[in-house]
Amino acid sequence: MDSNADDDAPAERHTSDHRTGHEYAHKRDDTAPLATLRDRFDIPDELYMDGNSLGPISEDAKRTLDRAIDQWRELGIQGWTEAEPPWFWYGERLGDELAPLLGAREEEVVVGNSTTVNIHTLIGTFLDHLGPDVPRGVLVNELDFPTDHYAIRAQLRQRGLDPDEHLHVVESRDGRTVETEDVVAAMDEHDVGIAFMPSVLYRSGQLFDLERITEAAHERGILAGFDLAHSIGVVPHKLSDIDVDFAVWCSYKYLNAGPGAIAGLYVDERHFDVTPALSGWWGHDKETQFELNLEFTPADGAGAWQIGTVPVFSAAPLFGSIELVREAGIEAIREKSLALTSYLLFLADERLAERGFAVGTPRDPDRRGGHVALEHSEAERISQALRNRGIIVDFRPPNVIRVCPAPLYVGFEDVLDVVDELCEIVDEKAYEQYETKSEVT
Ligand SMILES: *Cc1c(COP(=O)(O)O)cnc(C)c1O
Repeated sequence: MDSNADDDAPAERHTSDHRTGHEYAHKRDDTAPLATLRDRFDIPDELYMDGNSLGPISEDAKRTLDRAIDQWRELGIQGWTEAEPPWFWYGERLGDELAPLLGAREEEVVVGNSTTVNIHTLIGTFLDHLGPDVPRGVLVNELDFPTDHYAIRAQLRQRGLDPDEHLHVVESRDGRTVETEDVVAAMDEHDVGIAFMPSVLYRSGQLFDLERITEAAHERGILAGFDLAHSIGVVPHKLSDIDVDFAVWCSYKYLNAGPGAIAGLYVDERHFDVTPALSGWWGHDKETQFELNLEFTPADGAGAWQIGTVPVFSAAPLFGSIELVREAGIEAIREKSLALTSYLLFLADERLAERGFAVGTPRDPDRRGGHVALEHSEAERISQALRNRGIIVDFRPPNVIRVCPAPLYVGFEDVLDVVDELCEIVDEKAYEQYETKSEVT
């Protein structure tokens, strides 16, 4: 990770002054890779630092959405088979296109449903599939995004398993991060059959070591599943190589496929013979789907976990937005992402610490996803003040401002601008004119 090493190295600190200046940031943007891709996006505010919640529209995503709308107009129902690509195959085609971002075989990846629904079907599927001697407990952590727990608890309940007993929650030591060794220590083969962890914690941005967690789970006869919502499109994955059993993600964050865009899932090929818990005709073997047999014959691959008709307009923009990511290259995206978050951490140390901000994100680049959590006792009102100045970030209770320099459309000078504004807001107490209220997101 040479690209960002200079921002972290203490030896560089004494020469750091120039790096807090605009000339430096501007120069880095001039020479930075990916800088030209920003023109392909249409960004609503001056500074959009919220791409880990909802990515902005690109001309590429709009083009493939418009294509589907034109096909609807021109082909009507024939679009299912005559459109290019045929709507009927959207789930599989998009799965093929996403596979390289996941380090998976094409048939192991499909898009369909929403993330929450995919958690329901995959947790349900693998709870049913566990051997008779394997405990049907699921291991999660206390800093998870809530929907994951809601879905898992519901799946446990539906199997007559008390969620309070069967959902095992790894605790955080500091309220920000979860130690991998604590996850591993909680993998008790007498209690746990499935470990389900995020790749990146949504609040602090901690990146987990998927390989180590998967390996430790398998050593104990436990299945390993992951929620990649905050890493797909910004962190490369190698799910097949490291033998992950299953995974889910959404496409509206770093993949920029639009609000409520179709989600995706991965099932390792060794599980292709397992019956999906939430079956539907869209997961039927495609060759015979329209024979409309009452008996369900699952597709031979991850496609079997699709449920109902693919929502064409929620899927179409993903074709264009994946193209953009592929053009940039996921390795280059990760490298620039780390350079940007590293620069933000440097500026936070130099200028924000003295203004009451703490950094909630791990310093080690190998443990950092694509966003940075800045903590402040006035976080809620400060984020409102930022919004009012055309800078979009988000607030996560009780005290976190998430700043996401998404590398496809955010540059170094943008990062510096955000820090300038934060300093000004705190120095002038500009946040005092706002009220605290818990935001609904
Ligand atoms: C964003 C996110 C989700 C979203 O789920 P939806 O079903 O798309 O609403 C789920 N899990 C995590 C960890 C997320 O970050």
